[in-house]
Amino acid sequence: MGAPAKTSTRSARIEDVNALHAAFDAECTALAGLGDLLSDGLVLADPAGRVRYANSEALRMIGATSAWLRGRATGEVLRTAVPGADPLADAKPGPPQVEETLLLTRSGNEVPARVTLRRLASGGACAALRDLTQDQRLQRELRLRERLATVGELAAGVAHEIRNPLAGISSAAQVLLTRFEPRDDRQKFCRVIIEQVDRLDHTVTSLLKFARPAEPQLRATRLDEVIERVLTLEAERCAEAKVTLERRFAARVPTLYLDPGLIEQVLLNLVQNAVQAMPGGGTLTLEVGLGTRRTRPAERSRGRRSADATPAAGRPTAEEIPVVRLRILDTGLGVPKEVLPRLFDPFFTTKASGTGLGLSISQSIIQEHGGAISIASREGRGTTVIVEFPLEKRHGQRREDARD
Ligand code: ADP
Ligand code: MG
Repeated sequence: MGAPAKTSTRSARIEDVNALHAAFDAECTALAGLGDLLSDGLVLADPAGRVRYANSEALRMIGATSAWLRGRATGEVLRTAVPGADPLADAKPGPPQVEETLLLTRSGNEVPARVTLRRLASGGACAALRDLTQDQRLQRELRLRERLATVGELAAGVAHEIRNPLAGISSAAQVLLTRFEPRDDRQKFCRVIIEQVDRLDHTVTSLLKFARPAEPQLRATRLDEVIERVLTLEAERCAEAKVTLERRFAARVPTLYLDPGLIEQVLLNLVQNAVQAMPGGGTLTLEVGLGTRRTRPAERSRGRRSADATPAAGRPTAEEIPVVRLRILDTGLGVPKEVLPRLFDPFFTTKASGTGLGLSISQSIIQEHGGAISIASREGRGTTVIVEFPLEKRHGQRREDARD
């Protein structure tokens, strides 16, 4: 710059601009130095509206590389679900502006985010981005759980009230049945009444079991014996459905501390689900083996109930515990990927006469035993249900909404 600066207003302006640029560079360098210390995203734009810097979290949220985004117009980099919005350009001087919005990633996906904007003294702008995906998921789960607790209590109350009159109807119909001659048509109607009342009773009982799960009475139990009992009960149904049974039991399976009645109920439901998933027949395999499972520290309650459990002292690291792993494999219809996350939801069923409570009851029983249940499936190929029982005697997390 050779021009005499004092006399020319133009060069004075150039000086101002240069000073601003220098100020922005300094501000940008200072903020960028902090950028990778932040867990939030940070984007900086220069006074000309070009993006100069984004930290790694911002790059992740936007789905871009820093090479792509550097020097690009702010409206192209930070887009929201509102077409044409350009938050960085709209940043005003003064206190930061906060908005919750849906950010658009480069590939067009929406990310719920809290965006905090600020116009810098040098004329540049900065945006802090907080990804709200996880928060929203937790909130949704919490709301669902609260709703289920209320619905569960209500259902349990109603179910309880319904059971007594049902028993009355059933015994009256039984008596009536004996009053007609064996050839009398009316006997048939009595049987229909009894049958339908039984079905209602079954639904209502399931509902009660779900809403007020029984506390497991643990005793030394051989899992293979429980399995055999269930298979005996289901043998006829399997034969009718042309389902071949296969057993793959490890040689030495240790004794487990289980409530045999409750576990029988779980296995009965899992086996019935598997058989029902093979309308054209198939193979049902039961596999028992040893393994380990990682547990989260919160699950470490060794005492009777989670309420008595002392919080895990020291490091909150995961723990490997030895388990007996039962796998129930079928070669049936499988489960579509989008349905898989809903299988354990109470009342979720794809069957005309299903209650949708089998898996949710099974899950709470297994969790009460300190175990875990999970499902893997491929549509059209089959389903594998994995149940893990801890070798030690331990109780799991009792559902908070459950009452004794
Ligand atoms: P229900 O058997 O009354 O429908 P469950 O809670 O036992 O209720 O199961 C919920 C749903 O999960 C079933 O309706 C079915 O769609 C799906 N499901 C469970 N087990 C299997 C399986 N082995 N193969 C395919 N789908 C299954
Ligand atoms: Mg079922």
